[in-house]
Amino acid sequence: MQTPVIDLKTARNRRTPNPDQIIVAGAGIAGLTLALALSARGFAVQIFEKSAVLAEAGAGLQLSPNATRLLARLGVLERLMPHAVQPDAVCLQDGVSGKDLLHLPIGKAAEQRWHAPYIVCHRADLQQALLAEVRQRNTIAMQLESAVTHHRSDAQGVLVRVQYNDRIEEHRGALLVGSDGVWSNTRNAASDLDRARYTGSIAWRSSVPAERLPASFSALLPGGTNVVAWTGSNAHLIAYPIRSGELMNFVAVARDRKNPGRWDIEVSPDAPSQNFARDFYGWHPGIRDLVLSAGHWTPWRLFEMKRCSFLRDERLVLIGDAAHAMTPYAAQGAAMAIEDACALAAALGHDSETWPAALAAYAKNRTKRIESVVRRGALNQLAYHAKGPVALARNLLLRNRPPEKFVAGFDWLYGFDAES
Ligand SMILES: Cc1cc2nc3c(=O)[nH]c(=O)nc-3n(C[C@H](O)[C@H](O)[C@H](O)COP(=O)(O)OP(=O)(O)OC[C@H]3O[C@@H](n4cnc5c(N)ncnc54)[C@H](O)[C@@H]3O)c2cc1C
Repeated sequence: MQTPVIDLKTARNRRTPNPDQIIVAGAGIAGLTLALALSARGFAVQIFEKSAVLAEAGAGLQLSPNATRLLARLGVLERLMPHAVQPDAVCLQDGVSGKDLLHLPIGKAAEQRWHAPYIVCHRADLQQALLAEVRQRNTIAMQLESAVTHHRSDAQGVLVRVQYNDRIEEHRGALLVGSDGVWSNTRNAASDLDRARYTGSIAWRSSVPAERLPASFSALLPGGTNVVAWTGSNAHLIAYPIRSGELMNFVAVARDRKNPGRWDIEVSPDAPSQNFARDFYGWHPGIRDLVLSAGHWTPWRLFEMKRCSFLRDERLVLIGDAAHAMTPYAAQGAAMAIEDACALAAALGHDSETWPAALAAYAKNRTKRIESVVRRGALNQLAYHAKGPVALARNLLLRNRPPEKFVAGFDWLYGFDAES
């Protein structure tokens, strides 16, 4: 399956210098959402993106109600829904026996509870929807092939240095927001902040046309349209439909067998049999068949930051993975990037005198929220990868706890409104 490529060239739009503009480094999910949220509140925004084209590696994304309610307000959800799928439930199964462990309804009833849908989609479809909305706003300018390399804060605002092809440009703005991802230059320029750390685990991603799934695997799938997770010792597999149900998206997370301590050695995408597939050999035959027949699995090393940091100084804020790259066990990295963006836009008033206090409060609130989500991710990892007596205790708990209690246990996460 070819990786969809979004050509951003048509989005280029340079405007005359505006010292009151907010400069955004990076046009990922965080940067594009922030530009829309700021523009909706009357701010002028200049985005610099280092790539010439944005190619999202063929992969899916779960977007929970805490993210979709914000995308709805920005006009993005309406564009995304025709390509997305709204699953009925999140199901957990034992990866060896294939037995059901949990059935958590997240369909229409959950939408009523959390006032927004839980959806799954292709990353490129989300990016297209964000970009289409960005193009509608004449207060947002975007310059591609432009890497933010340095910044200097002063009393008037911030002076940002941008490498544009082989030229260096300087741009003045009132605030710089670093939404430049896990390898954030804006974060790493500060020596006191920790850098992203390799966890020693790899997410292997693949997608398969629905009609080409092995029969033994299809037989395992619970009825309806679901996000399904299979648990096992030190590994797990997640499957859900994307592209209006035409494709099944897979993420298999397992330890890096070959170079667990080295993130700088390339993982061969063509050698899953020597790497993660071995973790699934003793699993249910349907899963084994799927892992071996899916074809191309793209490896994605998992990094995390030990400490989240939102505020570098009064003129530089970090959001998204640049502030808090996290492991995907809670499926909340993009959702947190969207929350960060909308919460930041809501915090900023038009009088920049009020910004230092507003930004300090923003950083405090977001840190608390992110720490809770990271704790949930660690708990999920423990539950997904449990073995022996821990796995037995997990299964007992999951079977005996009423599903309504599980649903209520997500109110703090999915019912949250980052703008309120
Ligand atoms: C296997 C896996 C599964 C996941 N599943 C989910 C899920 O189901 N749900 C969920 O919510 N999250 C999920 N996530 C997390 C999610 O993908 C990320 O948290 C999210 O994409 C981060 O977005 P971002 O905009 O902060 O960073 P990015 O998407 O990395 O964007 C950063 C942008 O900045 C640009 N850039 C970099 N440096 C510069 C510079 N110096 N100047 C200008 N531009 C620059 C880059 O080119 C890029 O366009 C998953 C992650 C993984 C690894």
